[in-house]
Amino acid sequence: MIMTEVPALSIVMPCFDEEEILPRTLLRLHAAAQATGLAYEIVAVDDGSRDATWSVLAEAARQDSRVRGVRLSRNFGHQMALTAGLERARGTEILIIDADLQDPPELLGLMLAKRREGFDIVYGQRHSRAGETWFKRATARMFYRLIGYLSEVPIPSDTGDFRLMSRRAVDAFLQLPESSRFIRGMVAWIGYPQVAVLYDRAARGAGKTKYSLGKMIRFSADAVTGFSIKPLRVATFASAGLLGAAFALTVWAVVVWLLHGTVRGWASLIVTILVVGGVQTLILGIIGEYIGRLFIEMKRRPLYLVRDDTAAEPRK
Ligand code: UDP
Ligand code: MG
Repeated sequence: MIMTEVPALSIVMPCFDEEEILPRTLLRLHAAAQATGLAYEIVAVDDGSRDATWSVLAEAARQDSRVRGVRLSRNFGHQMALTAGLERARGTEILIIDADLQDPPELLGLMLAKRREGFDIVYGQRHSRAGETWFKRATARMFYRLIGYLSEVPIPSDTGDFRLMSRRAVDAFLQLPESSRFIRGMVAWIGYPQVAVLYDRAARGAGKTKYSLGKMIRFSADAVTGFSIKPLRVATFASAGLLGAAFALTVWAVVVWLLHGTVRGWASLIVTILVVGGVQTLILGIIGEYIGRLFIEMKRRPLYLVRDDTAAEPRK
């Protein structure tokens, strides 16, 4: 197959330090793609890996022109790597999959069947998660609850970025320009008929999770601030509560003064100062989160930079 021939199916895969599993992942992707009978391409994005991920990808691309490796100039994060891949995918069916074989490529057949039923977006929903710590599962559950409550568009719970999308859905997605990217929320936002297929999430095939606690926190903050302004309303609710308490305390202070005429209430003073100070700091922090994101958006920087692209090199 030559590059000018547009494949029907694109598989987009972000990779960060995945040298260990990549050869196996590529094998399974090829097998699953071949089983569909469609012409396909695999767009693998190396998100600034520090191991041999890029050599594995470059070699795979040399051996098989259906593989395209794109290497970002540094680690931009999963969501940016995914964006880079989606921007390069040329198929009319686009599958997004993790490199670590937690998402079974074999689900592709079922997903394509759903697409033929008229759904633009077929997302994998985790029926179970193997090999993940209780901490990861507990925080994930809390996260999906919180996001479900906060977001103005319903974001399906227990879904990752493992999904099959139609061309028009990907084109719509690529029109969203924000730099704080929470892709599963953005995909929910674009609408179009969406459907879930349940699957059992396997344990990582090799290596450790590339989502550090810091990355997870940033990811959650992007999700919350990107899809809701409800946290900003905390200030309104808090001030209502505080005003009520202030009124009650005023009455109490007057009564105590009338009855005893003494200086009392050290404890209540301290408590008031701590509560008011705490609430104010919290609200300032929330406002700061949004202002920080405004600042980042305002700079209009490119979402990522590309260092190498195997499709740009001359082909034999
Ligand atoms: N990943 C990435 N950049 C990052 C972190 C992760 O491209 O900064 C990729 C990683 O290689 C994998 C996918 O994103 O293909 C999901 O990451 P991981 O499996 O570590 O996350 P988890 O499944 O533990 O949530
Ligand atoms: Mg994983």
